[in-house]
Amino acid sequence: MTIQLTSKLPHVGTTIFSTMTKLSNDLGAINLSQGFPNFDPPDALRALVTYHLNNGKNQYAPMAGVPKLRAQIAAKVADLYGRNISVDDEITVTNGATEGLFVAINTVINLGDEVIIFDPAFDSYQPVIELNGGRTIHIPLDAPNFAIDWQRVRDSISPKTRLILLNFPHNPTGTILTPADLETLVEIVRDTNIFLLSDEVYEHIIFDGIAHQSLLCHAELAERTFVVSSFGKTYHATGWKIGYCIAPSHLTAEFRKIHQFLVYSIFSPAQHALADFLEQSPETHKNLAQFYQQKRDRFCNLLTDSRFKFTPTQSTFFQLLDYSTLTDLTDIEYARQLIQDIGVASIPISAFYKEKPPQHYLRFCFAKDDATLAEAASRLCGI
Ligand code: PMP
Ligand code: GLN
Repeated sequence: MTIQLTSKLPHVGTTIFSTMTKLSNDLGAINLSQGFPNFDPPDALRALVTYHLNNGKNQYAPMAGVPKLRAQIAAKVADLYGRNISVDDEITVTNGATEGLFVAINTVINLGDEVIIFDPAFDSYQPVIELNGGRTIHIPLDAPNFAIDWQRVRDSISPKTRLILLNFPHNPTGTILTPADLETLVEIVRDTNIFLLSDEVYEHIIFDGIAHQSLLCHAELAERTFVVSSFGKTYHATGWKIGYCIAPSHLTAEFRKIHQFLVYSIFSPAQHALADFLEQSPETHKNLAQFYQQKRDRFCNLLTDSRFKFTPTQSTFFQLLDYSTLTDLTDIEYARQLIQDIGVASIPISAFYKEKPPQHYLRFCFAKDDATLAEAASRLCGI
């Protein structure tokens, strides 16, 4: 007898990242789809993990995270965003940003609550909102600038709005926030019960000398915000799945009630290693923007003579390419065709939208060594 299960996520399938990476691997393509580097974390950081593995850091870490790592995160936040946060009460180390997002949404959202997100939106947000009985209100970011239309935000707020979820620097478009955006956001949420969740995993990958506008920069916003980030992007270590969530102490207390029963604590040797590395090499995250800007420029220069249209991205390690002059295929069809015909895998960004996107874009990850970028670009230019 087959017992029938009522799906909690009837509209959800396997993520586009798993799907495209599998297809790419099956067909031996160059995988510029799922966002991960094809190079390793710094030698010194890997050596530190080995050191801590071999020197007794193999039992449960504290539930909130290794104290030295939390202290280093607090020092970084003070240095970059000018905010002093409590090491004990306002930082929780999480199982990647993914867990931080999951727990923050669980902490805030109850049945019937509304959450505003911006499409294209990273694919993990809506399912977690749904799991909590929340309703997702989608506001599109319009091409070609993909900036927030704040009037639409104002118009979308209702008495049920409980959370606005932001992700800047933005995956997949690379849009960034300006200080004026933060000022407008303050005006909109002031005197409301709306919390903010800011996914800032690309905080260090922002180009052309522009400073990242963390919601932590702004005192009034920080009072109602969960900021989530990840070491995966910063140290070329997406497979370690270590991130963190920063929130005011009364929010962090509730966040930890859920975190402790979801995972309890995070892989200990890597937490100790990250703490040492942050202390020893603070220049690493400060140099990351320059590192990826060179890759962006290389990739874009190589594609100048291609038939794709694009504007070099302002941030992240993703470049959108507009293929509207090449074919009328949907982005999913065209992404599959590119894997089959030229062996280059990308992400169809319709996966990040509620409604079918009006444009024809594919997303390419340029966190790759030069030879890989050159080969991929040469294949794309051959179209
Ligand atoms: N948010 C965004 C916008 C992402 O691109 C990603 C994936 N890298 C995550 C969250 C998840 O991060 P992590 O791998 O640390 O869970
Ligand atoms: N953040 C990565 C991307 O956008 C993928 C993360 C994942 O595979 N879950 O490609």
